[in-house]
Amino acid sequence: MSVDCLFCRIVAGDIPATVIHETDRVLAFRDIAPQAPVHVVVIPKDHHPDLNSLTVADPALAAELLGVVGDLARTEGLSHGHRVVFNTGADGGQSVFHVHAHLLGGRALGWPPG
Ligand code: AMP
Repeated sequence: MSVDCLFCRIVAGDIPATVIHETDRVLAFRDIAPQAPVHVVVIPKDHHPDLNSLTVADPALAAELLGVVGDLARTEGLSHGHRVVFNTGADGGQSVFHVHAHLLGGRALGWPPG
């Protein structure tokens, strides 16, 4: 855990979140500023700064995270499709440096994202 990390503090229960799914190693909660009717943030409980560092450090955890994203796409009813985004680094639009997948859906999503 990193005390300076917002998502580590959510994992620790120090900051409230609307948690919709939890396993031993993965947590999913609703984004506080949703960009689509369904917008879920899926994180590993362990602190890894971004997707690239996670896949190097713990590829099994990266796979588990993706499995949870797929399960949530089904349980959230996104049968018409969805988008999974890993913003990575400053140019990638990442603002919280604890790796997370955005699961977005519930409407037709434009492309390119802008
Ligand atoms: P990113 O810009 O890819 O790093 O995404 C960070 C996401 O975390 C943004 O979509 C924020 O809206 C979301 N976020 C920030 N604080 C919270 C919070 N306390 N609970 C839920 N989502 C949050």
